[in-house]
Amino acid sequence: MTYPIVRIRSEFPMLARKINDKQLTYLDSAASAQKPNVVIDCESDYYRKGYAAVHRGIHTLSNEATTRMENVRQQVARFIHAASADEIVFVKGATEAINLVANSWGCQYLQSGDNILITEMEHHANIVPWQMLAEKKHLSLRYIPLLPDGTLDIAKLPVLIDDRTRLFAVTQISNVLGTPNLLSKLISEVRTTNDVMVLVDGAQGVMHQKVDVQTLDCDFYVFSGHKLYGQTGIGVLYARKALLDIMPPWEGGGAMIQSVSLTEGTTFNKAPWRFEAGSPNTASIIGLGAAIDYIEQVGLDSIQAYEHELMRYTLEALQQVPDLILYGPAHRIGIIAFNLGKHHAYDVGNLLDQYGIAIRTGHHCAMPLMDYFQITSMCRASLAMYTNRDDIDRLVAGLVQVQRLLGS
Ligand SMILES: *Cc1c(COP(=O)(O)O)cnc(C)c1O
Repeated sequence: MTYPIVRIRSEFPMLARKINDKQLTYLDSAASAQKPNVVIDCESDYYRKGYAAVHRGIHTLSNEATTRMENVRQQVARFIHAASADEIVFVKGATEAINLVANSWGCQYLQSGDNILITEMEHHANIVPWQMLAEKKHLSLRYIPLLPDGTLDIAKLPVLIDDRTRLFAVTQISNVLGTPNLLSKLISEVRTTNDVMVLVDGAQGVMHQKVDVQTLDCDFYVFSGHKLYGQTGIGVLYARKALLDIMPPWEGGGAMIQSVSLTEGTTFNKAPWRFEAGSPNTASIIGLGAAIDYIEQVGLDSIQAYEHELMRYTLEALQQVPDLILYGPAHRIGIIAFNLGKHHAYDVGNLLDQYGIAIRTGHHCAMPLMDYFQITSMCRASLAMYTNRDDIDRLVAGLVQVQRLLGS
């Protein structure tokens, strides 16, 4: 069956927008994806017809809202193939999920002298929380280095891991270069050395590749709803049940307690609710459910095959652009990083915007990766399930124009 790109594009209303009198060419989905009607409608329907506080009421509306929220927890568990919905914690986003792991599991179980292994291609969200934890707990941070082609230097693993390595935290796909990491290989190599925990940052992976947290053999998996065609302000932490059960609460408040007494202290709710203090973002949770339904109805396999072919088309088309410098490996997923000769990425992005073309420029929340390539910024074009060949053709034509304007 051919991929229904025309129908899909018609279901994302934002794609009809004009920018500077030009049709919008949206190539910034890796920063945040546009939303299909079903997600937008689902949230406004919830506010119009089904809204109430969850978890507390005995009234019908509250029970309905609670059921819908808990159904999404089960849906997310199926989507990433977790063993149970009890392993799914709702958080604000990938960033909060990683901070939760650092502040709960990390603070409780890591000791002075332990080390954490990450990589040189991580997003700041998967660097800074570990640096903060390392300072607080006197841990050291180690990095798997990059190779010039934008892949990880896996050969260095044996010298980086020792019996004090307690955590390996790695991105599924680089948010700058589109490098898909060989997670199974990395994780199995890390696991044979000792019982180091593994956290996978799925923020750039979950929309492009089928995820099975059990087959992957990771302990933690995190992602954000807004990059998966869902709303902002919602994300997911998956943690193995046995781990989640021994993790202390991170934030205190309502919903995460069992009983509170001013004289005898507080007993805490069981996981996952122990980690969801306060009123949850129910509208975005329900919207995330609609986004996952939408993706599953198109089929992640079809999306993957379509995006793979579009990437091949893009790389071929970009050969027409003089002075283009590409970064990253030959096999990229979803993302193309480049610069135009010696020109600053900011100028290129600014001029492309005149043609209605939206790309991302800057350090992409990955300054260590910029340091590696000895530059301060890159242009990044990213593909999504709704990107088509016309978008790519307009990008290529735009870049040719920009190169003419700026000169060599
Ligand atoms: C976007 C991103 C994050 C952070 O996601 P937020 O939604 O901003 O919390 C973390 N890691 C990677 C690889 C990302 O692309």
